[in-house]
Amino acid sequence: MKLPLLRVSVAVALAGTAVPAVTARAQQAPIAARYRAAADRIIDAALADSGAYRRLAELTDRFGPRLSGSESLERALDWILEQMQQDGLEQVRGEPVMVPHWVRGEESAEMVEPRPRRLPMLGLGGSVATPPGGITAEVMVVGSWEELLRRADEARGKIVLFNVPWVDYGTTVQYRSRGAIAAARAGAVAALLRSVTPQSLQSPHTGAMNYAPDTPQIPFAAVTVEDAEMMQRMVDRGQRVVVRLTMSARTLPDAPSRNVVAELRGSERPDEVVVLGGHIDSWDVGQGAMDDGGGVVAAWEAVNLLRRLGLRPRRTVRVVLWVNEENGGRGGDGYLEAHEAEVGRHVLAMESDAGVFKPLGFGFGGSDSAYAIVSQVGTLLDRIGAGKITRPGGGADIGPLMRSGVPGVGLNVEGSRYFWYHHTDADTMDKLDPSEMAQCVAAMAVMAYVVADLPEPLPRE
Ligand SMILES: [Zn+2]
Repeated sequence: MKLPLLRVSVAVALAGTAVPAVTARAQQAPIAARYRAAADRIIDAALADSGAYRRLAELTDRFGPRLSGSESLERALDWILEQMQQDGLEQVRGEPVMVPHWVRGEESAEMVEPRPRRLPMLGLGGSVATPPGGITAEVMVVGSWEELLRRADEARGKIVLFNVPWVDYGTTVQYRSRGAIAAARAGAVAALLRSVTPQSLQSPHTGAMNYAPDTPQIPFAAVTVEDAEMMQRMVDRGQRVVVRLTMSARTLPDAPSRNVVAELRGSERPDEVVVLGGHIDSWDVGQGAMDDGGGVVAAWEAVNLLRRLGLRPRRTVRVVLWVNEENGGRGGDGYLEAHEAEVGRHVLAMESDAGVFKPLGFGFGGSDSAYAIVSQVGTLLDRIGAGKITRPGGGADIGPLMRSGVPGVGLNVEGSRYFWYHHTDADTMDKLDPSEMAQCVAAMAVMAYVVADLPEPLPRE
């Protein structure tokens, strides 16, 4: 057993005795008291400013969506690097990463029986094309993996439609991830997915999908909840539903891209790092404003804010705009690879990738003793309702760092509407609220500043 763990168990044992409240308060006083004034300055300055919102609007209006491999992503990265230089951030650079390059091309879906209707659709990221004339086939609707298995002998030559109602993202997205594999194994010629969302206004939702090496690659596209339900009702009435699906998607060779990195160098221990950010790539629809333009700009502006206020912590605060979260995760992996030698000096990794709404706190992943400290830092955010530190926590882009032992936090927000817009043409600026975004900046800036300035680094597992 390692020493820190021993210390934790002693602390836990003590907390179980008759003096826990006093002990907890006594431990809490130092951090909260020491950093209250700085935290209040950060929060006041963040809330007085809608610069983050304006900057995100400019980014998303200028460049639009930013799929890995696209020219719009690379132009956005060039612009961000320029802006960061102008902001006066330090060590501004792009760190090379090779990314997958999938191109949607022209695509459509049309119900041809029992009556003609053009179906709003989006091919799923990574899907193969149909033959040039499309695939026209009868639709078989299933509501679960079990139903597909039970009726597998009916699937041959058909288009399988997964009409699976929303439960939560993690549960329902399995059908997007593995639907094409399961449908192909049953002999289907293509697959359709009811969009993964709790709420729909006829918008299809794209997202990543997978193939398996031992299974034929069939085209896979999302249709709307409304159309999936309608086709279900038609089939239930005994009607034959026929759809023509036409897709020209292609996967090109990997393309060069970059993680964008900038810093506020630490005053005493510049080689120790608090890293924060989000992913700069998006799907090729909407503006990638919620997912995740807002997260990256909030992190970027959090560092700008500290710089403007003259709050230079002991350790370096490093903002990273990871690339390729949506369809590969190469940015998160590439960052770990490039910074392997200094992973031991990463004190905290922070990510925002749950949309930009009212912040509630952070989800934490790491040791019990680090959790206790981060929870104390959280109390500095109670005045804006963003102080709740829960477990577990983390994020896709900081996952590689966390698996290497770095404590991690993911910004938690009031995200009940997030998946309405997620991966759709409706993920646009107007869905964000400037004051909520300013609160996200405040939450990230306070957490980054205090953890970067504490006398001791956060204890690891
Ligand atoms: Zn995202």
